[in-house]
Amino acid sequence: MTHPYLTDDHHIFRQALRKFLEKEAYPHYDKWEEDRIIPRTFWEKLGQQGFLCPDLPERYGGAETDWGFSVVIEEELERVGTGLVGVSLHNDIVVPYITDYGSGEQKNRWLPKCTTGETITALAMTEPGAGSDLANIKTTAIRQGDHYVLNGQKTFITNGIHADLVVVACKTDPKAEPKHKGVSLLVVERGTEGFSRGRKLDKIGLHCQDTAELIFEDCRVPAENLLGEEGKGFLYMMDKLQQERLAVAIGAQVASEEMLHDTIDYTRSRKAFGQAVSDFQNTRFRLAEIATEIEMGRTFLDDLIDRHIKGEDVVKQVSMAKYKLTETARHTATVCMQLHGGYGYMEEYKIARRYRDTPVSSIYAGTNEIMKTIIAKKIGL
Ligand SMILES: Cc1cc2nc3c(=O)[nH]c(=O)nc-3n(C[C@H](O)[C@H](O)[C@H](O)COP(=O)(O)OP(=O)(O)OC[C@H]3O[C@@H](n4cnc5c(N)ncnc54)[C@H](O)[C@@H]3O)c2cc1C
Repeated sequence: MTHPYLTDDHHIFRQALRKFLEKEAYPHYDKWEEDRIIPRTFWEKLGQQGFLCPDLPERYGGAETDWGFSVVIEEELERVGTGLVGVSLHNDIVVPYITDYGSGEQKNRWLPKCTTGETITALAMTEPGAGSDLANIKTTAIRQGDHYVLNGQKTFITNGIHADLVVVACKTDPKAEPKHKGVSLLVVERGTEGFSRGRKLDKIGLHCQDTAELIFEDCRVPAENLLGEEGKGFLYMMDKLQQERLAVAIGAQVASEEMLHDTIDYTRSRKAFGQAVSDFQNTRFRLAEIATEIEMGRTFLDDLIDRHIKGEDVVKQVSMAKYKLTETARHTATVCMQLHGGYGYMEEYKIARRYRDTPVSSIYAGTNEIMKTIIAKKIGL
């Protein structure tokens, strides 16, 4: 891999992570899929080896690395399986809310355990009645003295079962106009009275990723757990959704690369009508087509990661990458499964799992339809 933002240090880090995953993740992944959860011990092992939130300052247990190291972690976890997406969500999506909007006291209280794996985080925006339309969430947090009283329900929450800290989007001013100005972010800790987990959701893919409902019933959250300022939650989410979408695009790109690689190997070894399946012109053309799409995607993505690290405004390009690379991954999964024949439909072949896991990438972190509305606006429509 020749990403422009990667140095020798990143490559050494990648080798160490791969070695770790070959021992601690690859051999256990099928079992985790069966169990429908990744054990907490895996999180702790990641923490012990410095693979959780390496970009955090040293005083919180991080290594103050640039975001290129986080990209390496996202890529290598995706290579194992998309079910590990909850780790990237913790590293690159939820913890940055605390880093960027938390007070000094909040950071001291929460961040050290996020790097050791003792604390697992989640981000709860979506509700049964509102996903894309985030300004219309119904969860309320009404201030009463030195507490907020939180009421509402969240669904589809990644790391929902394991989470010790949940960043919850809620309305501190339910009557605000425009509606998004009433949204704030509260951090709810495991064990807070009135906070419970609902169902662990049964998904068609990402079997080992824990996805759950969260319920808040007269949940008394200390006022000091407000993240940033009241009424600014929507702006914070719009800001942080950029890195979330980029992370999803990175995962989709790696998934496509893996599927192509596996399918080239498979079609070379499989024989039909006295020749390798890879020798049929149809196979060669289909794989040539997706290889072209994948390489073009990689070039666009690498440039985008580089620009994101430099702090450039890449909202339009992030939306494009999230939309296009996830569509490419879905298409790649369909083509690659077909080229595996009947074996592609069998659980023992990796392509079967990728085929199940890939479609969600065009739904979460903002659906691809929402990505297109952003792109349309950015091109002046
Ligand atoms: C496995 C998984 C994990 C998830 N993890 C999390 C998590 O950790 N935290 C969290 O908060 N959420 C999470 N989500 C929720 C996810 O972000 C939402 O499902 C997503 O944003 C879409 O919201 P919705 O499901 O309510 O669909 P809806 O908003 O109801 O959309 C239904 C359809 O209408 C389309 N649509 C909606 N609005 C428009 C529009 N303006 N123009 C055109 N089309 C439109 C959508 O694109 C979609 O096709 C997760 C979801 C899944 C499946």
